[in-house]
Amino acid sequence: IIVPDQPIIPFIEGDGIGKDITEPSQRVIDAAVKKAYGTTKKLIWKEVLAGKKAFALTGNYLPDETLEAFKEYLVGIKGPLETPVGEGIRSLNVALRQTLDLYVCLRPIRWFKGVPSPVRFPELVDMHIFRENTEDIYAGIEFMTGDEKAIKFRDFLINEMGVDKIRFPESSSFGVKPVSKEGSERLIRAAIKYAIDRELPSVTIVHKGNIMKFTEGAFKNWGYALAENEFEHQTFTWKKYKQIELDEGPDAAKTALSKAKGMGKVIIKDVITDAFLQESLLHPFEHSVIATLNLNGDYISDQLAAMVGGIGISPGANINYNSGYAIFEATHGTAPNIAGTGKANPGSLILSGAMLLEYLGWHEAAEHVYDAMDHTFSKRKVTSDLYSMMEGATLLSTSNFADEIIRNIH
Ligand code: NAD
Repeated sequence: IIVPDQPIIPFIEGDGIGKDITEPSQRVIDAAVKKAYGTTKKLIWKEVLAGKKAFALTGNYLPDETLEAFKEYLVGIKGPLETPVGEGIRSLNVALRQTLDLYVCLRPIRWFKGVPSPVRFPELVDMHIFRENTEDIYAGIEFMTGDEKAIKFRDFLINEMGVDKIRFPESSSFGVKPVSKEGSERLIRAAIKYAIDRELPSVTIVHKGNIMKFTEGAFKNWGYALAENEFEHQTFTWKKYKQIELDEGPDAAKTALSKAKGMGKVIIKDVITDAFLQESLLHPFEHSVIATLNLNGDYISDQLAAMVGGIGISPGANINYNSGYAIFEATHGTAPNIAGTGKANPGSLILSGAMLLEYLGWHEAAEHVYDAMDHTFSKRKVTSDLYSMMEGATLLSTSNFADEIIRNIH
């Protein structure tokens, strides 16, 4: 994308703690841009409405103007949005992702010095989750027990598809899990390109293909085929390794692997989801980029976030690499239990802002944010979510934590 020196960045303040974290986060991002580029570059923040604030002002939770703004300016950022209950809307986040076809949910997992972690060598954790965002069981195709559609669907499965009716009592509800070749390929393609561009060592395809062969299994197979067809010279697949092992023996396979590594080729491998959840805790450094389907990605994102301080400091982005649309977001929810108390950690939104800067190509400014964050945590200055877990820490309010980061940027 072509980035002007003063890009307009639409932002959604968000519900609950959204109001508490948005302004301090913007101050941090602005300070980092100023430090990097003086007055030559600047973000122009433009508020757009969504969630409760939008409903109160317009009677609509997600006004068309908001979607139009994200389309017009390509890149935006958002605070958390409460999922309205019983209002005929499933989730505003899902609506945004689907309308703009933001097919990648990217979550970098990075540890900052001093942050409490349940893993032994958190300094070696450097993972990047690519979660498919538009398909899978999250596509929203569900039929509730007793509903006419559920009855029809059950009849269809039994009468037309030959499924044994004993498996589906009349009280069954149903959810459909669509996984397409195009959807899988574009996600895995983005993950491989990301690994190549950043010179990362591997892409792990995480799936439950052993059980769900035609959805999760197909995702894995399409992934390997894509790596071999589109990135033949830049990748070395585990399938290829296994084939060499079969044809020429284990030594030849190992030699081929170390040659591939020496040439900087990205290793493409796969792991079953349950094994991955265990492995990623025990040996997190064995994984770099992770490509996975929607539901797996949801679970994996929060588990990996817990390794580096939790959702309060884990950033995220929803991206369509074809159109360029990207919305960066706090990965946590609206935390109604602490809204307005000054306890919220703005770290997730601040780091999402740093990801936005990277996406614009403003890497120097992003580095200022990361360095200042590192400095702040290593001096044990934290918000309430991390305070009780860190010995000798100093407790700061949301706003004071942002000020401390700004001081460290300077
Ligand atoms: P939550 O993330 O809001 O809260 C879970 C726990 O984490 C709470 O104890 C909360 O106090 C704490 N927490 C969350 N963010 C924090 C922060 N920045 N600093 C310190 N502590 C933090 O999850 P929930 O309670 O399940 O959901 C509340 C609402 O948020 C629901 O309506 C849900 O649908 C919505 N939600 C929105 C998003 C999003 O907009 N991306 C994501 C998740 C949940």
